[in-house]
Amino acid sequence: MAAWPAAVIAGSAQHRHRAALIAPDGDQEPAEHTPRPGAGRLGPIRGWWGAARGWWVRVAGEGAAAPRWGATCGWWGAIRGWGAARRSCADRQWIVRAPAQAGRMTEDEKAVTVLGLGAMGTALAGAFLAAGRPTTVWNRTPGKAGALVAGGAVEAATIDEAARASRLVVVCLWDHRSVQQALDPVAGALAGRTVVNLTNGTPGQGRELAGWARRHGAAFLDGGIMAVPPMIGGPGAFVLYSGAQEVFDAHRDALDALGETMWVGADPGLAALHDLALLSAMYGVTMGELHAFAMVRSAGLSTTAFAPLLRRWTDAMSGFQERMAAQMEARDYTTGVVSNLAMQAAAFHNFYDAAHEQGVSPELIAPLYPLMQRRLVEGGGAEDLTGLVELLNTRRTTA
Ligand code: NDP
Repeated sequence: MAAWPAAVIAGSAQHRHRAALIAPDGDQEPAEHTPRPGAGRLGPIRGWWGAARGWWVRVAGEGAAAPRWGATCGWWGAIRGWGAARRSCADRQWIVRAPAQAGRMTEDEKAVTVLGLGAMGTALAGAFLAAGRPTTVWNRTPGKAGALVAGGAVEAATIDEAARASRLVVVCLWDHRSVQQALDPVAGALAGRTVVNLTNGTPGQGRELAGWARRHGAAFLDGGIMAVPPMIGGPGAFVLYSGAQEVFDAHRDALDALGETMWVGADPGLAALHDLALLSAMYGVTMGELHAFAMVRSAGLSTTAFAPLLRRWTDAMSGFQERMAAQMEARDYTTGVVSNLAMQAAAFHNFYDAAHEQGVSPELIAPLYPLMQRRLVEGGGAEDLTGLVELLNTRRTTA
């Protein structure tokens, strides 16, 4: 019986490793293709080893029950291992390249295409070049690739040519609509490749593009760039990705050139969700700062003199995110409160009055006050401001 687990487990072992999945014709495997159990080259070898062990057990006659079971299980392991590997390789003729080989990529395998040479696309292409990746670029309006070409990039004459130049095609255009307009006509050229969309969009748009790519035989990741162009390739930049993890793993080395890579989930909409959530926080802070500067300017004061004060205050009032998150998880907004909602709401009207006195529009700070009033009416006077989050879900969850 001892041969059973060893042979069968060995023969059907999962070979999910960080490997690129390459077809003999050089195309990339689509996102949905997952290596089957035993897909690696070791699958059949382990299976045959199990078979040999089983046969040996039978011949050597170890114990009463072991011989027959040992051989049966050994052969079964061998057949499973060999069959799984053969099916996996035969399925669109994929060859699984082991991690050790990933380090010895050919220039062709390292190649990257960047579609879109705006401020961000240019920075992305520059980072790929700096990382030693053969880089092909394309832009709707020609003439923007000069510096990149001087740095070693190849400028494709057409988007079709650009799409066919690399297995990894990174897209960074104006918006979702421009991505649709650019990619639709070259869907055929993208089949078998991996499209990584780094254009800002919504979760729904990310999912829509993922469906489009799937229908056209392309692997897909959606992404959200948490950096401005000069940060790309530097230590402060990070980029969020969502989509099939195998696809992310297969291209992570390449994408690392842009900044720290973070995979946020298999749902292709999740990168955009995180991206927009983070940007919302940024805009919220910026809205308050703009109002603050407008107030100072209305009094004829120097914004330059005011800036360090503003920075000091915003720094002092930041860093509470984990505490806020814990309150939301517990749905308890009243424990350890130091500045309750009732107190804050009583003072908040002064912001309107002061703005009017100074001739400043209160529209950037206006949305908060009605929410405070609603929460007060609901009995939330003793809560932290965090309790307002309960008013924001228009689709109430069942949690
Ligand atoms: P730019 O305005 O500099 O560039 C826009 C790009 O989109 C250009 O290459 C433009 O081509 C192309 N484009 C517009 N419409 C079409 C179309 N219909 N078909 C083909 N190409 C088109 O913007 P950025 O590069 O700064 O931004 C690109 C994306 O990156 C945006 O989604 C943005 O939100 C995102 N992003 C930008 C950041 C930034 O700080 N810049 C930060 C994080 C994300 P053409 O030259 O022909 O007009």
